[in-house]
Amino acid sequence: MPRRVLIVGYVVLLVAPLALAGMQGLPLRSLWDELATGAGLVALAILLVEFLLSGRFRLISRRIGMDVTMRWHRVLARVALVLALIHPFLYQGARNPPYPWDTTRQLTLNWEPEAILPGAVAWMLLPVLVGLALSRSDLGKKYQNWRLGHGLMALTIAGFAIWHALLAGRYSADPVLTGFWLASGAVAGACMLRVYLLAPLARLRRPWRVTRVGPIAERTWELVLAPDGHDGLKFQAGQFAWLQVGQGPFSVNDNPFSIASAPSEGPEIRFVIKELGDFTRSLGRIPIGAPAYLDGPFGHLTPVERDAPGMALIAGGVGIAPMLSILDELRAQGDPRPVTLIYGNRSAAQIVDSDRLAAMERRGHLRLVHVVSEPAEDWTGEVGVIDRPLLRRLFDDEARRSWLFVLCGPPGMLTSVQQDLTALGVPRPRILCESFVYD
Ligand SMILES: Cc1cc2nc3c(=O)[nH]c(=O)nc-3n(C[C@H](O)[C@H](O)[C@H](O)COP(=O)(O)OP(=O)(O)OC[C@H]3O[C@@H](n4cnc5c(N)ncnc54)[C@H](O)[C@@H]3O)c2cc1C
Repeated sequence: MPRRVLIVGYVVLLVAPLALAGMQGLPLRSLWDELATGAGLVALAILLVEFLLSGRFRLISRRIGMDVTMRWHRVLARVALVLALIHPFLYQGARNPPYPWDTTRQLTLNWEPEAILPGAVAWMLLPVLVGLALSRSDLGKKYQNWRLGHGLMALTIAGFAIWHALLAGRYSADPVLTGFWLASGAVAGACMLRVYLLAPLARLRRPWRVTRVGPIAERTWELVLAPDGHDGLKFQAGQFAWLQVGQGPFSVNDNPFSIASAPSEGPEIRFVIKELGDFTRSLGRIPIGAPAYLDGPFGHLTPVERDAPGMALIAGGVGIAPMLSILDELRAQGDPRPVTLIYGNRSAAQIVDSDRLAAMERRGHLRLVHVVSEPAEDWTGEVGVIDRPLLRRLFDDEARRSWLFVLCGPPGMLTSVQQDLTALGVPRPRILCESFVYD
């Protein structure tokens, strides 16, 4: 499904409650009352559609990218919060039970406690939910526990908000809009079930075993898995999967990692992992033969099948992982297109697969440009960071116009390289980018 269709579908879902309310043909109330209701309807729609954005759907992540999806998830959460917070204050109608003669509730707002209380609970919990998400990194909570708690709290808020809309809402009392809210609430619940029940059940049927684990560069590990009784994972070079090692498939402890091996290399899957926190620092303790589970593939960093006369792969640190998969796949397919790899690191000790990359360069498969910011005295490559003068020097006008630029690395580097590339005339649709951090 094209990206544009997904975006249009998303917008349609957000405005659907407004359209369904408008189609009821009820007499209009004051502008403020209609604005108040509109704010409430859109806030609830955003809240419910947020579950789709964070529900690990391949269809969405393949077209839009998980990092972009999560960025929108956060932006829209703020919009929903503002709309929800102002919603009760915009009303100007009389706050009474409906007058018997006012059958369309044009003049009064349903102010009965059973209608208002669920809304008040949702109204008070929503800022807490957003606040906890914004301060997640300061709270020191384990990411996966926070994610489960965040999802359950969001589901609880959605439940209270739907309850409130059905009892207090003038338009939501209509059977069509009631049906829309109940169906959307069910889909939101199903998204959580998918991540925490259905995906683990699917993983249970396709277990993996650790066949190799060891250090390959400074604070960087290689982890190789082989399928245990099945034919492996079908993926495209550059994609990633959520990985669980040494625990049951129902454990909430999974982490996303790019697949560093190529699809055509066979069923074994290799990951290149940099030490960062709890899981990534425990790789040295994983025994050979340990069970592992994968949820994937996800991601849109998939340039191999795309039409472009050449490719620039730009990696920062462990952002090299998907590039290794892409390079190996291009070589396995005998792809004749010119490829330049710009690989930035702090020091030469952090370079992964340095001999293999050098061998690819010698065979003429690759133009390899190492960039190191803290070089040793004998360093012969580029010094500094991947910046505009370097990019200008490496790519002529024709390459800038027509090549595909594939970026992966720390968020700061991604932002600055994207800005440099667009300033140098690279069209935005020719830049593919995946961030390893969702914050
Ligand atoms: C699409 C994608 C691909 C990635 N590919 C690689 C790779 O090939 N090699 C590599 O070294 N790193 C990769 N990462 C980063 C890697 O996922 C984190 O470094 C790792 O999860 C840290 O886990 P931890 O338990 O060691 O640290 P923690 O301290 O638990 O986590 C540190 C941070 O990692 C992120 N993180 C942890 N768990 C998850 C999760 N389940 N979902 C999303 N984010 C999470 C959070 O931002 C968290 O704050 C990738 C990340 C993403 C999003």
